[in-house]
Amino acid sequence: MEGDAGCARVLPALSDFLDGELDAMTAWAVRQHLARCPHCRARYANLHRTVAALKGVGARRRS
Ligand SMILES: [Zn+2]
Repeated sequence: MEGDAGCARVLPALSDFLDGELDAMTAWAVRQHLARCPHCRARYANLHRTVAALKGVGARRRS
């Protein structure tokens, strides 16, 4: 199906997706894939937690 990027293409793009650095087309494809792939969704949640933790440390140092 067009627009479904597949795990092999989505997984390496997840960190850029999280940073908002993907172009609109790729970001859309990643979002479509995450909606139907629990495996990539779990990886994304993991990555999101890691980044949030890093940002939490940054925020704490700022105050
Ligand atoms: Zn996947």
